[in-house]
Amino acid sequence: MTNPAKPILWIPGPTEVRPEILAECARPMIGHRSKAMTTLMERLDPHLKFAFGLKDGSDASVAVHTCAGTGLMESALLGVGLRVLCIVNGAFSKRFHEIAVALGKDVVKLAAPMGSQVPFADIEKALREQGPFDALTIVSNETSTGVRTPLAELAAVTKKFPQTMVLVDFVSYIAGAPIDFDAHGFDFGFAGIQKALALPPGLTVAAASKRYLEAAKARKGRGFYLDPVKVFEGHAERATMATPAISLYYALAKQLEDISAGVVLPENQRGKTGRAAWQARFDEHTRMQQVTEAWAASNDLEMLPAPALRSTTISCIQAGDLDVPALITALKAQGHELGNGYGDLKDKTFRIGHMGDHTEAGLQALLQLADDVIAAQRAAKARV
Ligand SMILES: *Cc1c(COP(=O)(O)O)cnc(C)c1O
Repeated sequence: MTNPAKPILWIPGPTEVRPEILAECARPMIGHRSKAMTTLMERLDPHLKFAFGLKDGSDASVAVHTCAGTGLMESALLGVGLRVLCIVNGAFSKRFHEIAVALGKDVVKLAAPMGSQVPFADIEKALREQGPFDALTIVSNETSTGVRTPLAELAAVTKKFPQTMVLVDFVSYIAGAPIDFDAHGFDFGFAGIQKALALPPGLTVAAASKRYLEAAKARKGRGFYLDPVKVFEGHAERATMATPAISLYYALAKQLEDISAGVVLPENQRGKTGRAAWQARFDEHTRMQQVTEAWAASNDLEMLPAPALRSTTISCIQAGDLDVPALITALKAQGHELGNGYGDLKDKTFRIGHMGDHTEAGLQALLQLADDVIAAQRAAKARV
């Protein structure tokens, strides 16, 4: 069932979902305490380990919970102590900070302007001079600005402060770039599924280190529905605390299996499976970032983030002389929906979400149409 009036979504989430995945959501219901549900949950874990980059024999755990991505920001914080350092460089890291404040944590905020990243030297200085901190919050990929935090450099700093739990939002990052959760010593990572995992919204996936879960268990006041211990134990025991979004579990299972089987890879990459298939998917996203960057340059447009900070799943481009609403309207009429800038960056930037199951070929087609729209806009301006 396709809707010809519906444009292809290149907005930064929710993104386009393949028909085969949508069809999974139409399966007949099963009881959530049934053997069928246990079997369905068991399909997820091996692939979630690839998504989070858990090593073979890792002592970290994975989980799935029925809620929006924002819910797991709260879960992550419910399992840690009072003193929290929040790294803020855009709309979603700002939300992570707001939740820490709302939970009554003793919060220090380190902020950087939209489009940039807090320098690692400043993070290290804060951890050293204003610590000890129980936890640090960070967003790996600021969907609002297209800024990707280099995780190896982050880990090089946070590993010097082992008393601090590292809580990372991977919402628009997961399945678009490698996470290396164990190697980087992260403690809690999470993602909603409607962005780089290309599924309908409503579920979250997460990974937690053994030390995070042990420390969380010893804490009081973890709430109930978002209690990280209940979330991870419920998943491990195949007994979720409440009725899960079963339809979305079916969709998630198929999507993860398809990624691991290389189903959505370009023709010349097919046949790769397991970790190699995930790596090939990350490489495709890197190429899409490079294609978008070259396209922007060919139209005399600049990316918002500095080269080292550019996301593989969302490109945020400075509008320059372009009329962003007109660009978006013209492309929508041709069947493609781009994202405007976020908040103060509205009309000053626009965003292309080349995330999820989007391909380099599909992106090239979009950018060709955009070339024509931009040329027409500039020609019209030159005439007046
Ligand atoms: C979209 C987004 C969120 C919020 O996800 P919801 O499912 O809407 O709660 C959090 N973090 C990042 C980086 C996002 O892009």
